[in-house]
Amino acid sequence: MLVNDSFVKAQKFAEQAIIKMSDNGVPSTPSNYAIWYDYVSDKNPDLKLAIDEIIQEGKDFTLAVCNQLYQQFYLSDEQQSEHIQLAGDKVQETLKQVIQQINDAGSDNASYGEKITNLANDITVDNSADSLKNFVQEIVRETAAITEKNKTLQNQLEQSSNEITSLHQNLEKVRTESLTDALTQIGNRKLFDINLVKEINVSEEENTDLCLLLMDIDHFKKFNDTYGHRVGDEVLKVVARKLKSAVKGQDTPARYGGEEFTCILPNTSLHDAASLADQIREKIAKQVLKNKKTGKEFGRITLSIGVAKYAKGEPLENFVQRADEALYRAKDQGRNRVIKEIT
Ligand code: GH3
Ligand code: MG
Ligand code: MG
Repeated sequence: MLVNDSFVKAQKFAEQAIIKMSDNGVPSTPSNYAIWYDYVSDKNPDLKLAIDEIIQEGKDFTLAVCNQLYQQFYLSDEQQSEHIQLAGDKVQETLKQVIQQINDAGSDNASYGEKITNLANDITVDNSADSLKNFVQEIVRETAAITEKNKTLQNQLEQSSNEITSLHQNLEKVRTESLTDALTQIGNRKLFDINLVKEINVSEEENTDLCLLLMDIDHFKKFNDTYGHRVGDEVLKVVARKLKSAVKGQDTPARYGGEEFTCILPNTSLHDAASLADQIREKIAKQVLKNKKTGKEFGRITLSIGVAKYAKGEPLENFVQRADEALYRAKDQGRNRVIKEIT
């Protein structure tokens, strides 16, 4: 298999990073992986210095120490997602490395087979006892060598596969967490932004309908003022749950911010989007909100919803703004209603 230099280097660094992390008892998290990859590849002299100091002082790489390193050297959100991306790439590299190991083993085994075949071809009926002895010794040697190689390979594979599994799990967890709203556990604004770009592209390419709902809880300030912020938070969770259960797998329900929610609806006509919005509105309006302990009712809340359909070629901001304008009109016309964009 032909490989270029940078790939070989990346493989080497990936392997060294894993070994160094394991030597120093560093937990396999994507951020740690990014740190240690940079450490072994000497990409950041200050980072290297800081790590060497920790090692020299005989300190443990506790969660706090690792976090501190990460914050010190990779602080901004942008850098963070870049590094998560990088860690993902490193996992890919390590995977490629495993495949390389398997290929190498394949060729080792093949050459073993070839040697044995060649030796076997040398045997003729009148071969002397000595040459037979040599032949057997040669086979024993070759077999021992390949067995040893296979054992080492198996260990390497096991270690790589464990590391990969753990890195993948951590990476998935970090990715999911970074796109989930902590309070309501549905998608957050970041997920909305990412998926809206994606779905606009799909809609453009496949010429399919794409709709957007923007929802805002009516008079929520008053609700909070009356029952307290904590109760308000519980209500946000209820709304998120209802919203999530009302839509399908291809849709993206998300918390847009504060008491505002949104939902991206691919492959949906304006008419269908508006009727789905009305089902959501009705579900929320019907929901009786009670104090779990005392059973006392908090009263009900309502939603105003704006609906817009993506117009081919329009800028993303335009699309969102049209949904926002529709929402504004829903508020203006008395709340607890669904308004479609003006077409
Ligand atoms: P409108 O019908 O015009 O939307 O009135 P409103 O009171 O809902 O709107 P306004 O923008 O005046 O106030 C929004 C309120 O939403 C303010 C704040 O009390 C509440 N809110 C926003 N985010 C949160 C949150 O995370 N938790 C809680 N409990 N309340 C929040
Ligand atoms: Mg609002
Ligand atoms: Mg509101």
